Amino acid sequence: MSRAAATKLSPSIADLVRSFEAYFAEHRVCDGLAGSILEVTENGVLWGVAWLECSACSVHWERRLAV
Ligand SMILES: [Zn+2]
Repeated sequence: MSRAAATKLSPSIADLVRSFEAYFAEHRVCDGLAGSILEVTENGVLWGVAWLECSACSVHWERRLAV
């Protein structure tokens, strides 16, 4: 689980990062926690994508934001 990618994100998706951090904190103690934040270009549009998955709680969270 690496969170180093978050340091390269643009300030406009700081809210996305905060949401991710909140979910991450909620499942910090769980087994099978995975997630990341990344920037992807789709059809010429740059998106910030955050996702988190916790197999212990059967939770899958994903959020996208146009940057
Ligand atoms: Zn969990």
